[in-house]
Amino acid sequence: MEKIVVIGGGLMGSSVAWKLVDRDAKVVMIEQQGQNYFKGSSIGNTRIARSLGPKKDVFSYAHNKTIQEVTRLLEYLNEEEPKQQHTIDEIYSTSPVSYLYHKNEYAKIEKLRFKKQKKDFNRASPSSSFRKFGMSIPDDTILVREKRQYSGTLNPTELLKKLRSGIEKKGGEIKYEHQVVGLVKKDDIFEVSVLNMKTQKNHKLKAKKVVVCSGAYTVNVLKEFAPYFNKIISPKKVVLSFFKITDDRYGQLSEVEKEALFNSLPFFSQIKQEYFAMISELKEGVSPIIKAGGHQRRRNIHDLEKIWDEKPQKKELKWIKKQFKKHLEMLEIYVSKKDIEEVKSYNCVYSETRTKTPIVTHIFNKYGVLDTNIAVVGGMSGIGAKGCLCYGLLASDLLLGKNDKPDKMYKKMTKAFGNPSVNLYTKRIKPGRLF
Ligand SMILES: Cc1cc2nc3c(=O)[nH]c(=O)nc-3n(C[C@H](O)[C@H](O)[C@H](O)COP(=O)(O)OP(=O)(O)OC[C@H]3O[C@@H](n4cnc5c(N)ncnc54)[C@H](O)[C@@H]3O)c2cc1C
Repeated sequence: MEKIVVIGGGLMGSSVAWKLVDRDAKVVMIEQQGQNYFKGSSIGNTRIARSLGPKKDVFSYAHNKTIQEVTRLLEYLNEEEPKQQHTIDEIYSTSPVSYLYHKNEYAKIEKLRFKKQKKDFNRASPSSSFRKFGMSIPDDTILVREKRQYSGTLNPTELLKKLRSGIEKKGGEIKYEHQVVGLVKKDDIFEVSVLNMKTQKNHKLKAKKVVVCSGAYTVNVLKEFAPYFNKIISPKKVVLSFFKITDDRYGQLSEVEKEALFNSLPFFSQIKQEYFAMISELKEGVSPIIKAGGHQRRRNIHDLEKIWDEKPQKKELKWIKKQFKKHLEMLEIYVSKKDIEEVKSYNCVYSETRTKTPIVTHIFNKYGVLDTNIAVVGGMSGIGAKGCLCYGLLASDLLLGKNDKPDKMYKKMTKAFGNPSVNLYTKRIKPGRLF
């Protein structure tokens, strides 16, 4: 059986590797971190999971497909481990998701098909939002609330654990603390140079097929095989803060205020810098820890290795705290600055494409020839987690050539994420400029 090497074991690499072993492929996944995942885009225990979108929206499709695939994974794990019950509630927390739009986006909101999906989505103007949702929103905004099963948050740490367990149970190999330091192709075979980070010894793996899922490190991994990727994907940093209302002040909130706070999270403002907030830790009777940040406050990264030790910039922290306070004020919860405790803050990494659309595609080699034995899953920026198993499915189809009966949405998704000529050459990057 041909061996497939998956480079990177975050949400994307683990999803691809699981889908490959689930189809009986022989897989080796190489991950530079240990089993404990601590630096990469998939860090932490909460991401917004949501499926609000216009008709035939590929991202909603990816989210829904991921739920189906998670169900399949859990069924498998439960068959293998009948004594241990794996449940979907360990991964998804269903709760309303609130979106704030500028009123100029009315046309976009209209496309969300409220009439057809009345039971799942509701919207409110500034005059009705407090009555409907317990939130007083600015005059120039519209609030939309989504209520669907498994919309709310998903837990990347739990999902990673289960994916990796599925990979190993199906006979896949995971090499932790191994770093890919070279990727070339010789005589139709990929040669992957791997550094054992514990022993500092190098060895070479030979494989017919490779999938690159290295997140922010994608350009680095592809620097020899497809150097043009530095024009396609770039690593970005984004600051995350974790806040709580101090326990004393939280204790003074009424039950109605607490309920309004819970109902308003996750919150995703589509305005300007795209502020987001969600509950990260919840313990009975104490103030919840809320994770917050701004999706459009991305900054270039000069040194990927140093990013996790670098202190976030003060102005970023100030901006997030200000938005957090504003959000509380919309709920008519008024707290002073000292009532907000910053539990921790750190820089996190994104991989972003020029078009801001994720890519799941074959790769052109450095001579401009499309190589169908290699695929890349990348540029997931702030939207990848909720669709990870759908991207994994797509990548495994690309490499194994399976999917006999694709439905219309699958085809649309393949085109959106998987066609190199669509994704790589948009924004007028012509092949001549790539190579
Ligand atoms: C701040 C933030 C908020 C987000 N919010 C949401 C959200 O609300 N909803 C949502 O759906 N998505 C969200 N996302 C996006 C989602 O988390 C990412 O799209 C997803 O985690 C990307 O996974 P990945 O596997 O591509 O990258 P990563 O998790 O970074 O995985 C890449 C892996 O490759 C490994 N690696 C790299 N180079 C090498 C090498 N040379 N050798 C071996 N291993 C290597 C790395 O160690 C890493 O583990 C958010 C992301 C961030 C950063």
